[in-house]
Amino acid sequence: MGVAAACSVSAATPVAARAASANVAALQIALAGAGLSPGPVDGISGPQTQTALQRFQARRHLLVDGIAGAQTRRALGRRGRPALGHRPMRLGTRGWDVAALQFLLRVRGYGSGGLDGGFGPGTLAAVQRFQQAAGLTVDGIAGPSTLAALRRLQVTPTPTATASGPVRFLRPVSVAFTDGFGYPGGRRHTGLDYPLPYGAPVAATGVGVVAFAGWNSGGYGNLVVVRHRLGFETWYAHLSSITTSVGASVSGGTVIGHVGSTGHSTGPHLHFEVRQFGTPIDPVPYLLTASAARNVPVAGGAAAPCRPNADARQTQDTDPLVARIDRCP
Ligand SMILES: [Zn+2]
Repeated sequence: MGVAAACSVSAATPVAARAASANVAALQIALAGAGLSPGPVDGISGPQTQTALQRFQARRHLLVDGIAGAQTRRALGRRGRPALGHRPMRLGTRGWDVAALQFLLRVRGYGSGGLDGGFGPGTLAAVQRFQQAAGLTVDGIAGPSTLAALRRLQVTPTPTATASGPVRFLRPVSVAFTDGFGYPGGRRHTGLDYPLPYGAPVAATGVGVVAFAGWNSGGYGNLVVVRHRLGFETWYAHLSSITTSVGASVSGGTVIGHVGSTGHSTGPHLHFEVRQFGTPIDPVPYLLTASAARNVPVAGGAAAPCRPNADARQTQDTDPLVARIDRCP
């Protein structure tokens, strides 16, 4: 719908435009391990991470400069060292480098292990899966060749990213989007814009729990965030009304609000995002052809309600390569 439905959310959230860094993720994991709250492990040094880092520096009577330099890393103990690449990592290895490795694996879609700086069985399995996929020797040891292969690949997902694993979402509404993810028209855009009239119902795109439902002053206006398994979130912005609340369980097709133009928006539309571990990613490779909107005709013209997929209700330990958020028609 061109200019009328454009949103400028991305301008209000410059954090999303910064590339995620494995070292920042390692810092976030170390700070969390030290009892501070650096926010989600997303590899982006935002305000929460900065505050946590400065609090740590103040607590240890270090120079409070918000930079994770040598002194700060030393003060973090075994969580603060060694640097990534200084040693091969294997089952039992702990430290900063393992945390960075876990983040790289996760961003590449091989993240069934924890983000805790400890090389356990989950990390081992993830390394082995990555090595296999990358055509490397599958020895479960993250040495120079494995790290080189992991680093060769861009950390920040690009508009041409493909979905890693079979996680899929329904489409939030049944119309085609206008502005895509990436740089449509030269501006950074962290989601998809769907042109719709005021009041059109917006449905959750898969099984999850509402993590946020309210006003976002950063440009999203009335916003609903649904937290799914495996680190995925879906965001629904600029709503005119919200019909759900924090903690509510939803599945594909649950109406969570209605289209509006609240926040930084120049006309009624739905701004939809998919985030993985806090980083906006291109939703397109993750979208099924079916829509979550009510009474959407499926092949043959019949209207079929979406049934939550059984394995989407299992624990978060389910292997992402065999799990789906939902499996509507
Ligand atoms: Zn948008």
